[in-house]
This record gives sequence, structure tokens and C-alpha cells, in this order.
Amino acid sequence: MSVIGVDAGGTLTKVVYEENGRLHYKTFTSEQQGSVLQWLTIPAQNHKLYITGGKAEKWAEAFPQVRIVGEFKAVCRGAKLLLKEEKNDLNQFILINIGTGTSIFKVDENGCERLLGSGLGGGTLMGLGGLLTGESDYYELVRLSKEGKRELVDLSVGDVYETMNSPVPQHLTAANFAKGDSSSKKEDKLRALTNLIAETIILLASQASQAHNIEHFVFIGSTLKSNPALKEDLIQFQDMLSYTPLFPEKGAYAGSLGAFDIGREEELSQNRQ
Ligand code: ATP
Ligand code: MG
Repeated sequence: MSVIGVDAGGTLTKVVYEENGRLHYKTFTSEQQGSVLQWLTIPAQNHKLYITGGKAEKWAEAFPQVRIVGEFKAVCRGAKLLLKEEKNDLNQFILINIGTGTSIFKVDENGCERLLGSGLGGGTLMGLGGLLTGESDYYELVRLSKEGKRELVDLSVGDVYETMNSPVPQHLTAANFAKGDSSSKKEDKLRALTNLIAETIILLASQASQAHNIEHFVFIGSTLKSNPALKEDLIQFQDMLSYTPLFPEKGAYAGSLGAFDIGREEELSQNRQ
């Protein structure tokens, strides 16, 4: 029986399935569970669903042919496959999943371990970004953020030390948002927000990488979709903190691809029995 992999996350539901020997990738909002179910009704008649993500159990109620897969296992498995596809077959890396919130994992030959997480993530960009600007569309938020200058909102070390020599580089942030006021532009506030998310994630990830002596950071999650500002802010410390960033192109689908692959393996081994 063929397999469909689903990652039902806090915000988005990602689907991976195979047709005519090729993998297909689709995204729905998690609120659209009804439409996804409708869309899946025909293919699901001869497919088995392998579902991961925080909303996986909601699916089990609606679909009898469902197997739930652990989220950490699915995400790490999918990330490894995406890297392999892009000829970046790494033995060990720090995996950073920027979804609604952010989770950080260590992946190596011993498997996958969740090290830490943060409530700063794509949901923060949507929620706080919306509060700061009145915009609610993801693509509009990331478009505006790309146009913005965070130095008009963030207080830098250089702003504090002015002409004096500073003990840390002048361009570093002294206080996020400390220069923001009611005249701050939407673009600049959103860029400062994107940077706040990126800075925090990099600080956490670099603590993890130093503790485990791992150089590569692999970023996944839908918050990186069409979001050059976030990517730019995530790579800004690579020289200072010595990490090598990687952004697999289909990083949004790591969880769904992992669930799909775990399902495919299980079905194959059952057919052999
Ligand atoms: P989690 O893993 O934390 O439960 P999730 O799996 O739903 O959440 P992702 O799908 O990886 O998380 O990322 C969700 C984020 O992606 C949103 O918070 C938003 O910043 C961004 N995003 C990208 N495309 C869209 C879209 N079309 N609609 C809403 N958010 C989007
Ligand atoms: Mg997710």
C-alpha cells in the first residue's frame, strides 16, 4: 500500500506523497483540516497516512487508516534525507526547526536528541509582527521586513559607546527595539523583529554547538519560506561564532518527508513478512 506523509503543525499542515514515481509537496493551513481531508479522500482510499506534528491526534479521529509518528524522529529523518538529496550528507549537525515556535536538535550517528527550544519563531513573526504593524498576511510581513532597517529601531553597542572604544564590536545589538517609537516604520519594526528572532535562535544554537563541538547548522521550517531577511539575519554571526549554515530548499517539508519515509519503510517490511 502506498503512503502519504503528513506533518500537522501548529500553523501549517504539510503533505508529501508519491505519484508516477515522483514526490509531491503540498501545504495547507492547519485550520483547513476539512479541505485537506477532502483533498485526501480519493488518494487515501489506497494509501496509508503516516502523520506527525502537534495536531496529529486530531487526524486520527477523522481518519481510520492513520499511523502517528513521533515529531522529533520524523523531523530529523526528513532533514537527513533533504541534505542527502542536496549532496550534503553530514554525519553530525545542529538542526534548527523554525516553525510556529523553534526547536533545536543534535543529530549524529547516535540518532537525534532535542536539546532545547524557544517560543520565538514563525508564530512570533505573525503575532507580534501583526501587533506592531496591523499586517496579518505572512507574505506581506516578510516582504516588508526585507525592506526594513533594524538599526533605526535597535540600539547598537556603537550607539551607546559613540566615539569611545567599545569592549565588544560596535555593530552588535545593545538592546533590541530600544530606539523604537511611534514614528518607527512598519518595515523597520518588522526587520528588528526578524533580527530579534534570528539573534536569539543563533545564541541558543551556538551554545548547543559549542557544548557538542558541532559546526554545521541546518535550518528548516516554513518560517524560512520566501524570507530572505530571516536567512540573512541567521547567517550574520557565522564568522564571529564559527558555524556553517545550511538551508535545505524543501526544509518546510522535513517532518512530512520524514513521516512519509518512515511509513514507506514500515509498509515495505510488512509486505516482506
Ligand atoms: P510547529 O512545528 O511549531 O507546531 P508548524 O509545523 O505549523 O508549527 P511551520 O509550518 O514550520 O510550523 O512554520 C509556520 C510558520 O511559517 C508560520 O508561523 C509563519 O511564520 C510561516 N509561514 C510560511 N508560510 C505561511 C503561510 N502561508 N501562512 C501562514 N504562515 C506561514
Ligand atoms: Mg512543525
